[in-house]
Amino acid sequence: MYAQVIVDISNDALDRVFDYIALPDTEVGMRVRVPFANRTILGYVIKLSETTDFDETKIKPIIKNLESVPKLKPEILEVCRFLCGRFFLRLSDAIKLVLPSCVRLDKSKEQYSSYVRPLLDIDTAINIIGKRAKSQLSVVAFLCEQGESDYTKLCEMFSRSSVNALIDKGIIERTYTRKLRSPESSEASVEKNVLTDLQQKAVDTIANNDDIFLLKGVTGSGKTEVYMTIIEKALLQGKTAIMLVPEISLTPQMMSRFNSRFPSLVAVLHSGLSEGERYDEWDRIFTGQARVVLGARSAIFAPVENLGVIVIDEEHDSSYTSETNPRYFTHDVAQFRARYNHCPLILGSATPSIESYKKAMDGVYKLVELPERINNIAMPKIEIVDMLSELMEGNTSPYSKKLIAKLDECIANKKQAILFINRRGFASFVLCRECGYRAKCDDCEVSLVYHKEDNELKCHFCGKRYRALTNCPNCHSTNIKYGALGTERVCEDLKKMFNVSIFRMDNDTTRVKNGHKHILEQFANTTPSILVGTQMIAKGHDYPNVAFVGILDADVSLYNSDYKSNERTFQLVTQVSGRAGRKNGDGSVVLQTYAPKHYVYRFAKNYDYNSFYEKEINLRETTKFPPFSTILRILISSVSDNRAKEVTKLLYDKAQTIKEKYGKDIFFLQAMPAPVKRIQTKYRYQILTRYSPCDKITSDFFSICDIIEKDVSIFVEINPNNLR
Ligand code: ADP
Ligand code: ZN
Ligand code: ZN
Repeated sequence: MYAQVIVDISNDALDRVFDYIALPDTEVGMRVRVPFANRTILGYVIKLSETTDFDETKIKPIIKNLESVPKLKPEILEVCRFLCGRFFLRLSDAIKLVLPSCVRLDKSKEQYSSYVRPLLDIDTAINIIGKRAKSQLSVVAFLCEQGESDYTKLCEMFSRSSVNALIDKGIIERTYTRKLRSPESSEASVEKNVLTDLQQKAVDTIANNDDIFLLKGVTGSGKTEVYMTIIEKALLQGKTAIMLVPEISLTPQMMSRFNSRFPSLVAVLHSGLSEGERYDEWDRIFTGQARVVLGARSAIFAPVENLGVIVIDEEHDSSYTSETNPRYFTHDVAQFRARYNHCPLILGSATPSIESYKKAMDGVYKLVELPERINNIAMPKIEIVDMLSELMEGNTSPYSKKLIAKLDECIANKKQAILFINRRGFASFVLCRECGYRAKCDDCEVSLVYHKEDNELKCHFCGKRYRALTNCPNCHSTNIKYGALGTERVCEDLKKMFNVSIFRMDNDTTRVKNGHKHILEQFANTTPSILVGTQMIAKGHDYPNVAFVGILDADVSLYNSDYKSNERTFQLVTQVSGRAGRKNGDGSVVLQTYAPKHYVYRFAKNYDYNSFYEKEINLRETTKFPPFSTILRILISSVSDNRAKEVTKLLYDKAQTIKEKYGKDIFFLQAMPAPVKRIQTKYRYQILTRYSPCDKITSDFFSICDIIEKDVSIFVEINPNNLR
């Protein structure tokens, strides 16, 4: 029998199967160790076959099967094949997605506790040991009295050699039990609500139906309750479930709601886990102990079998498109798995993506709506403040009078406030007023951000740190301007204005393990208080005392200048506003902007998704942007600027022939430097194309990229979220 093996090396040249002679117990999906060149490496068996196309005399046998039960289950192998076809991935990269590295590389084996207990009674034991081995005698005396002890503790109390000697003589016995490293979880019991009629109707429509559903419900309309009820039904039928949320809304609250509803059946997968915790959570899923997977994007690859439902909550969130390699779009994978298992896929959101809502309008997805908050609690009132008028009236601070008045009122009422700002750090750029010098990262073509706490400049792309500037490296002037506001600066300002606790939540303050959780816990327990944060605070939090939300500069995302910026801004404003007045309907929102008349804000103010959608979909149609086109970007990068240019030219010429072939179905094709020209010392170029959605055109572009170029990497992205 021959085994087709994918080797665990990321290299275009090795992206094919290699044949080996299978061992008797080799099965499809197993990790194996195989000879390769002059060493041995890890590989994955993807197929067994009686025959081989290679020279049989040269085929070597597999050295070792690394497990007795294949780590790659048949469904997951199918998912890998799907990923390759859809997203232009190598099979070895697809496998890296579906098997976390702790599992793939055995980095974090199971942990065991071990216990020892006596096998003989004390007199028999003394006879065997003899009177001279005093230390061994005391171990036995202790154990016979205690009955059992932890091995490590016993060794510390006496000596390891005496304990081991007794084990060797068969006088005492050592046993092992698996110790699970489980992530911290709050055990608070959360009551189960009786569903409202609308919720019940949603459940009845969705459960046991293998369609794709778009569950559109305003923030606080009880979507999560609907998901949990459908998951419960699936479990009762012996099935399993995956529930995806954006990483940042995987809040302690969310986890305790799931843990209390499905005790000991939930596994969580998110980026805050230690390797050991991830290994054990994955293993609990793999062995079927955990049947509900709650996690961020990559949890879509969880090895659950017999899925009964998949949920993608906040389906519009950009985190579902991975922005690092290997790149994939979560919805497509979810759809593949839902079809495979004949189960429903639920896409939930208050502000569905334009693409998803169009599919619902076209009948591809089934639309289910929850238009009201639970108990008809009012949505918070959004007031738009024109910052230009503020400026004309002489207020040069970044805080409008209205915002300050609202904060005052909120604090006087002993309530909580959330201030949203889209930048972390103290100031988002550092500029010399004399010569215009801007501090940039050496390795990336981006401005550095000043972080006052550490008094240094940081690159938000690669993390590199630089000493803060007191004078300009170019003209030596000390007239340095620190531009635009960041979270750190806002906190500092607020501390001067208000005498209450102020918490900050951003990538810097949440980096420590459970940092996220601790900040939120402190905030939840402190009234009055103010929470200042980035994107992270926009989602999933349900704090009843939050009465006021301030959006400091909404325009940051509006002027991002890509086709999704309107959509993203609308979603952000709606999400952030949704944090206010969730319990009593007493919430209010102040939105500061320099474009108060922009339609995004006009519609967001009235929570009018449908009008926003109408306007936006028309715009997309006339300008031919998704969903009326597919955007494909080929990204070419290399440490050598010349090599990157050469390959870009080569690919561009080939792309031209595709354009000729399809004529006006290809609306746009151009090669240019990427918006960020250099990241981590690599020069970057792109070929950007837009064409009428068609799989054949996509696969033609894929095939021109299927080349191997020394020192150059080539990536293809489809409808990327962020071009940089
Ligand atoms: P969403 O996910 O749409 O934001 P949630 O499911 O989190 O909404 O519900 C919002 C709040 O309403 C939560 O505090 C939840 O416990 C509560 N809730 C949900 N459904 C009901 C119900 N049927 N009866 C009473 N309270 C409910
Ligand atoms: Zn950098
Ligand atoms: Zn200067």
